[in-house]
Amino acid sequence: MEFCPKCGAMMLPSDGVLKCNTCGYSDKLEDNNEYEVSREIKAEETVKMLGEDVNVGPETNETCPECGHDKATYKLLQTRSADEAPTRIFTCTKCKHTWRAYD
Ligand SMILES: [Zn+2]
Ligand SMILES: [Zn+2]
Repeated sequence: MEFCPKCGAMMLPSDGVLKCNTCGYSDKLEDNNEYEVSREIKAEETVKMLGEDVNVGPETNETCPECGHDKATYKLLQTRSADEAPTRIFTCTKCKHTWRAYD
């Protein structure tokens, strides 16, 4: 039950508004439907390009021999012979120095 804030009479809903028949005051009916404001989540992923190399592997805790930074990305480089262990190529995330590691 709503009452008119102006004259205190009972207000009746009509055409989506609450209307006071005594003084003519009208107010919007409160919307009971909770509607969420849909936020547009940008699908754009921040792709970090490390130099020209798009094929960047996962990050690992490897210390860069060049600058001493302890984070590097690595990827595996399969050698010609399948018997040999793949060579790991590390790329320092800080100075972009690359080096190889053999298992
Ligand atoms: Zn009124
Ligand atoms: Zn480095």
